[in-house]
Amino acid sequence: FPCHKIRNFSIIAHIDHGKSTLADRLLEMTGTIKTDSRSVNQQVLDKLKVERERGITVKAQTASMFYQQNELRFLLNLIDTPGHVDFSWEVSRSLAACQGALLLVDASRGVQAQSLSVFHAARERGLTIIPILNKVDLSTAQPDRVKAQMHSIFGIDPTDVLHISAKTGEGISGVLRAIVERIPPPSGEITGRLKAFLFDSSYDRYRGVISLVSIQDGVLRKGDKIASCHTRKKYEITELGIMHPEEVPTAQLLPGQVGYIACNMRQSSEAHIGDTLHRVGDAVEPMPGFQPAKAMVFAGIYPLESSDFPNLEESIKRLTLTDRSVAVQRESSVALGQGYRLGFLGSLHMDVFRQRLEDEYDANIVVTAPTVPYKVVYKDRTVMVSNPTDFPDVVDTSAHVCEVQEPIVKASIIVPEEYLGEMMVLCFEHRAEDVDHQYLETSGEGSNRAMLTCTLPLSEIVAHFFDKLKSRSSGFASFDYDDAGYKQSSLVKMMFLLNNKPVDALALIVHRSAEQRTGRVWVKKLHKVIPRQLFEVPIQAVVGKRVIARETLSALRADVTAGLYGGHYERKMKHLENQKEAKRKLKRIGRVDLPQEAFFDILSTR
Ligand code: GDP
Ligand code: MG
Repeated sequence: FPCHKIRNFSIIAHIDHGKSTLADRLLEMTGTIKTDSRSVNQQVLDKLKVERERGITVKAQTASMFYQQNELRFLLNLIDTPGHVDFSWEVSRSLAACQGALLLVDASRGVQAQSLSVFHAARERGLTIIPILNKVDLSTAQPDRVKAQMHSIFGIDPTDVLHISAKTGEGISGVLRAIVERIPPPSGEITGRLKAFLFDSSYDRYRGVISLVSIQDGVLRKGDKIASCHTRKKYEITELGIMHPEEVPTAQLLPGQVGYIACNMRQSSEAHIGDTLHRVGDAVEPMPGFQPAKAMVFAGIYPLESSDFPNLEESIKRLTLTDRSVAVQRESSVALGQGYRLGFLGSLHMDVFRQRLEDEYDANIVVTAPTVPYKVVYKDRTVMVSNPTDFPDVVDTSAHVCEVQEPIVKASIIVPEEYLGEMMVLCFEHRAEDVDHQYLETSGEGSNRAMLTCTLPLSEIVAHFFDKLKSRSSGFASFDYDDAGYKQSSLVKMMFLLNNKPVDALALIVHRSAEQRTGRVWVKKLHKVIPRQLFEVPIQAVVGKRVIARETLSALRADVTAGLYGGHYERKMKHLENQKEAKRKLKRIGRVDLPQEAFFDILSTR
C-alpha cells in the first residue's frame, strides 16, 4: 500500500459521546466486521470485561480497514483512545501515530470537559481535526447550539461539522469520505532507513511481547533483524501484520502503516512505549518519545488471607504485564502482613485494576486508603513519600524537616450555569485556589454553560470528589484535570492507636484544617467495627503527641470461663483450646484481637 492511500486517525471524545459505537459502524461499513442485526452495539474494540461493564475504554485498541472510494482503495488505520482523565497518557501515545482525529461531540449534551482536553492534545500534535456531532437522532439534540459552542471554544467553523448518528448509521459514509479527503496521508520514504515507532504493547504467553508499531520510513519484513534505540537490544521479526480487527499476518509493513510485530522479546519491560526500532547496523535518529506514565495515586493491596499471598503475587505480576502503567513495590504491614504497594495514574485507574484483579484472578483483597505522592523536604535532601507510614511524625521548621509539598492539579469543570455556585462551593470545600469562570455561550434560550477553572490538591480529588461533583450537579457537570506541579502545604500524619499501640495500615496524611473532623469520624468508625475485648480499649487518633479524638471500647463483662465451675477442669481446657483455634485468624495489636474482617470493614468504607 503506497503511503498516499493510507490514513491514520483516532476518535477522540468525552466519555459516552459514542466513540466505540462509531468505531463499530466504521468497521461495519468497510466490511471489516459483519453486521449482526441481533447485537447492534458490538463494541468490538472494548475488549476487557471491566470495560464492557463500565462502558469505558481502558486500553487503546487499533484496527485497520479497507475503504473503496471510486476506483481507489484506501487503508484506514483507526487507533482507539481511552476516554477517561486518568488515561490521558494513553491518549497522547495513540495520537502520536496519527495524522488526524475525529472529534466527536454528543449533540444533546454538548461540549464537555474531556472534549476540551482531548481536543488540545490533538491540536498540540498538529493533527487535522474533523469535528462531528453525534446522536443527531435524539429528540433532545441541539445541533446549532452545540456547533456554536464548538465555534466559541475551539474556533471550529460550523460548516465543517458533520452530523451523524452512530446508532442508526446516518452520516457514516460522510465520515469515511472526510477521513480520506481531509486528513493528510502519512509521509515516509519507502527507500529510507527503517524507523518504526512503538506505541503500544501487550503480552502473549506463547509469542512473548506483541508490539504495535507505526512505520515512519523503510519496510519491515518477517525475518528482519531489528534493534531498539532505547535498550540497544537486538531482535528478529518472527511475525508481523495488521489488526483487521484481529491480527492478520502480512508479508510486510510499509511506511505509514500501523501493525503488530512479534519478535523474540520475552520481557514486557523490553518494549518501551515511544521507542524507535531500526535495522541492525543502520544508525537512525530516534523519534521523540514519551514521558513515562507517572503514578499519582498509591494504595497498599493485601490478601484477605495471608496464605493467599503467593496467588496475589502471581496475579499482580500477570496483570501488570498487560497494564504497564502500574507501579509495583513489595511492602509489609504489621496489621495486614505481606502485600504490595501499587501506584496508579488516578483513582479510576485504581478501581479498574482492582476490579480486574477480583474478576480475572478471583482474588480476595484488602485495599488501603489511597494516597498521593508527597515531597518531604529535609535540610539536605527531598524524599518522595507515597506511604503514610513513611511520613514524618512532626513537620516542624525548627526540626530537621523543612516543609512538605503536595501535588496540585489544574481543574476544569463544565456545567450549566445554574449549578455554577454549587460547584464553587464544592471546590472551596476541597481547598480550591485561583477559582475563575467563564460562560461558553453568549446567547440562546435555556441555560448557558459555564466553565469553572481552579487549582486543587490532587489528594482532594482521589476519593469521592467525582461522585460529589456528579450528584451535586444532577449529573450535568463534567470534570477534567491536568498536572500543575507541587506546592507547600500544611499536612500532618494521623495515627490511630488501639490500646496505645499504632495500627500502621490505618495511618493517614491529612490537611491540618481537616484533622479534627477526620480524627473524630475515624475514631467513631473504629469504635463501631472493633469487637469488645475482655478489658477496656482506648481508641485514639493522634497527630504527633496530640490526641485529636478518643473513644473507649468498654470491656466485655462475661468471662467465658466463669460459667464453668471449678471441678470440670477438662471441659475448661477444651474450651480454651477452641478459643485458641479461633484466635489464629485474629490479628493482635496492642493486646487487642482484631478479626481481619474488621480491617476490611474499616478500609472499604474509607
Ligand atoms: P464511548 O464512551 O465514547 O465509547 O461511547 P459509546 O460508544 O460506548 O456510547 C455511549 C452510549 O451512547 C451507548 O449507550 C450508545 O449506544 C449510545 N450512542 C452512541 N451513539 C449514539 C447515537 O448516535 N444515537 C444515540 N441515540 N445513542 C448513541
Ligand atoms: Mg467506548
